Amino acid sequence: MVPLWRTCKEAAALLVAREDRALPINDRLALRIHLLACKACPDFERQLVTLRQAMKQWRNYSEEDSGAAP
Ligand SMILES: [Zn+2]
Repeated sequence: MVPLWRTCKEAAALLVAREDRALPINDRLALRIHLLACKACPDFERQLVTLRQAMKQWRNYSEEDSGAAP
């Protein structure tokens, strides 16, 4: 049996890594299981998503602000 349980620390590391690169299938599965079972990590995931959206908006804003229209 593949051990699919991750600690919160490992799950957090996977959530951060997922921002940059695609995770292997077993990591994605383990992360999904952890997020279903854990109380704290889904909150952390929401924070990451919020942060990522804020960064995206900020980036769009700075690009618009530079006045470099194509
Ligand atoms: Zn957790």
